[in-house]
Amino acid sequence: MLRIFKDDVLDPEKFTMTLELVPGGDSTGRSVDTVMGIAADAFADGRISAVSITDNPGGNPSLSPDVIGHRIFTTGMDVIVHFTCRDTNRVGMESRALQLAMMGMKNILALTGDFAGKGFGGQGAPVFDLDSVQLQILLGLLSERMEEAGDPDGFFTGCAVSPFKWTEAESFAQYGKLCRKIGAGAGFIITQLGYDAAKFGELIRLMGFLGLDVPVLGSVYMLTPAAARIMNAGRVPGAMVTSGLLAEVEKRWADKKAGRRWSIEQTARLAAVLKGLGYRGIHIGGIHKDFETAGRILDRFEQIQDQWKDYLPRFRHGPPGGFQVFDFDRTDEDQAPRFGRNPEKVPLLERLHYLFLKTVHRFFFDRNSALAAVSRQFAAVMDASRTGRRLVHLAEYGSKHILLGCRQCGDCAIEYAGFLCPEAGCPKHTRNGPCGGSRAGCCEVFPDRYCVWYRAYRRIIAMDGKAVHRAGCVPPRLWELDRSSSWLNFHLDRDHHGSSNQLARRCDVNVCSLKI
Ligand code: SF4
Repeated sequence: MLRIFKDDVLDPEKFTMTLELVPGGDSTGRSVDTVMGIAADAFADGRISAVSITDNPGGNPSLSPDVIGHRIFTTGMDVIVHFTCRDTNRVGMESRALQLAMMGMKNILALTGDFAGKGFGGQGAPVFDLDSVQLQILLGLLSERMEEAGDPDGFFTGCAVSPFKWTEAESFAQYGKLCRKIGAGAGFIITQLGYDAAKFGELIRLMGFLGLDVPVLGSVYMLTPAAARIMNAGRVPGAMVTSGLLAEVEKRWADKKAGRRWSIEQTARLAAVLKGLGYRGIHIGGIHKDFETAGRILDRFEQIQDQWKDYLPRFRHGPPGGFQVFDFDRTDEDQAPRFGRNPEKVPLLERLHYLFLKTVHRFFFDRNSALAAVSRQFAAVMDASRTGRRLVHLAEYGSKHILLGCRQCGDCAIEYAGFLCPEAGCPKHTRNGPCGGSRAGCCEVFPDRYCVWYRAYRRIIAMDGKAVHRAGCVPPRLWELDRSSSWLNFHLDRDHHGSSNQLARRCDVNVCSLKI
């Protein structure tokens, strides 16, 4: 069993380097040879602790990371497998995890994943049966089962986070979800891609503030004009390249050789900055042809790492006036996070919507409410007959369709999303917070709509004046309840609140919670 990556990243004395590889759309030939060649050279170089292999990036069909990863793994190079929630349901995910365990590949980067892209015959169906927090829990439970079966070595799972959010609502939601991922078992963190030292520093400082001691690898990427253009246009969800940075990349690359030298230097400098800021390693991307470029980045990084403070001012690539949790330019260590200081105006209709649903919830869907016992008895009576069930179903979905665009999932989760529906409002059906793909508060998939989690935060702050990211996590939706009444399911303990739900108990783990 290779445990190079795990040992390295958990060793506080080490600065760990990983390299992201992107398999192509063929099972043989040049694309496979290239990935295998880069991995072989990285292994020979000796500075890379593991290569990570992407899982159908952009939602487009590619060679499975499990297969090419395993081939690399057998050469002695440790591998991190990207594992997304997009393409298979929980049954397929569990089966895939078992397969990976049997192959010995237990470093997993658990991700929600980009939205579905195009494959055979057109756009693929987006599955998103679990979200990335729930996937962490699934892998944790499997690890326990493996241990019971005599395998002492469970999965070593990690997660992604994007500090590159420039609205308060998105920042709060990202970091709140990070708390849940860590509570669910994430043992390492890899950041999304961005070029703003203040935001990189913010993540480390906030983790210190919350008492989180999980190693973080910062992403560095060898930018070319083509890659910078794609990222600037928002076509790599979560990656942030500003127009100013794009213009600089294009200018430097007017001469291709000089541009390449410049990008290598910038990547090495950013790596140095990350080390200086307290990152435990770097995750290198943008290496698609050969290992030589990555080797040059590492050589240069080793030469200049102590000069990281000189490079800080060059990495301030965020939108002007964007929200920051801390004032990066202030050196005092005891700053409190700046959440909730300037609540934004929320339209009256939205505020009334929140107030109404919150009030209804407090009276009828709170186990501590004075009406809880009566509601429960009423539910039992209605549930006893087909007519009763139909009447409740009609009343529930008639009203919730108008108020929430309800999809009749039967396992309601509006209480976690500021009384908005995560099934109707989020194309990835996330119940534990947003994916990393939102931009300026807008949804990755439908950029003309606000992200449901962005809306949720703004409503809560505007109406309650404070926000508390619910401790623990939200269990997955119970599909067996589809098209049944969530009202009855709640009162009769059939939904995810039910005490018999093994996951609900596991979701009680709380390592930190963001509060305002
Ligand atoms: S979470 Fe489910 S029951 Fe609740 S509003 Fe959305 S679809 Fe309807």
